[in-house]
Amino acid sequence: MRFDLDNITRKNLLKLKPYSTARDDFKGMASIYLDANENPFESSYNRYPDPKQSQLKAELARIKKCRAEQIIIGNGSDELIDLLFRAFCEPGVDNVIIPQPTYGMYSVCAQINDIEVREPLLTDDYQLDLVLIRKNIDPQTKLIFLCSPNNPTGNLLETKSIVDLVTTFHGIVIVDEAYIDFAGNNGLLSQLDRYPNLVILQTLSKAWGLAGLRIGIGFASEEIAKLLTKIKPPYNISGVNQNIALEALRRREFKDQYLETILKERQILESQLINFSFVKRIFPSMANFLLVKMENAKACYEYLLTRGIVVRDRTSAPRCEDCLRISIGTPEENEKFIIELTNYQKIAQ
Ligand SMILES: *Cc1c(COP(=O)(O)O)cnc(C)c1O
Repeated sequence: MRFDLDNITRKNLLKLKPYSTARDDFKGMASIYLDANENPFESSYNRYPDPKQSQLKAELARIKKCRAEQIIIGNGSDELIDLLFRAFCEPGVDNVIIPQPTYGMYSVCAQINDIEVREPLLTDDYQLDLVLIRKNIDPQTKLIFLCSPNNPTGNLLETKSIVDLVTTFHGIVIVDEAYIDFAGNNGLLSQLDRYPNLVILQTLSKAWGLAGLRIGIGFASEEIAKLLTKIKPPYNISGVNQNIALEALRRREFKDQYLETILKERQILESQLINFSFVKRIFPSMANFLLVKMENAKACYEYLLTRGIVVRDRTSAPRCEDCLRISIGTPEENEKFIIELTNYQKIAQ
């Protein structure tokens, strides 16, 4: 299938002249800036931040081994998801495919943009059902959202199936790799140059421990990155956040340490959870959480709440009946969690 970016871009954007910031007109260093109606009195933040996030992109390109021009930075991945809808989907006309169960934000964003959502189920083992997905594709299908490792199931999707879809679909395939750092695998990034219709999402919210900063990262062809950049709010990442993110990226030991601890804790938690009589199944996880199937998961959820412990109730998600999603905490938190489950086991019997 030939992929034609102009063909799937919303017509109103083809001729869009983006908002030009004062600093777009002037490049270089000047000694006096009277162009942006800023307050001239020096403080750390009296100037507008870099709308292109050049330093952040340069550092990310170095770490991720791609070109800075292939990167777009969003105010969280959530902003990037919304930009994808606004770039490619005509409200009231187009549709997207979101295999379920998965992250809820894709379909919320679709609804906000008045885009029809088609939700074929994943297979029993949470892989892509290519036959079912293909049945849902029609000429108005613009985007397919895949999540790998998948939230809330924790598994990686098979690369072969993803590539199969990417190479045969006329629209854009988004692979959300928010949890890829926990998977011990580099995901699809190294193959980005091969597929003009592939968009990869990553984030500093999980392994990097910076959810509060709201930094989402999109990787795509230079053309797609340029299009999305054209429609994003110019100053979408604050100067403070750009600086802190840059600092974190330059001091990767922190992330590596977090990762090591979380992976170790994931294994410990798994080995303890399986011993509870009410735990029926723990799904293999490549992320920083465990999906656990229990007898009467709702009752366990409610009990934990009374003890001040909040986990995620996924019992109403398709193929997640009686499942709770449990994020990996600090060693101390996990220990308390296990103690409370031990108490619960006594009561529940
Ligand atoms: C947590 C999560 C994100 C992160 O979103 P941000 O807006 O970058 O914080 C993205 N995708 C999935 C599947 C997630 O679970």
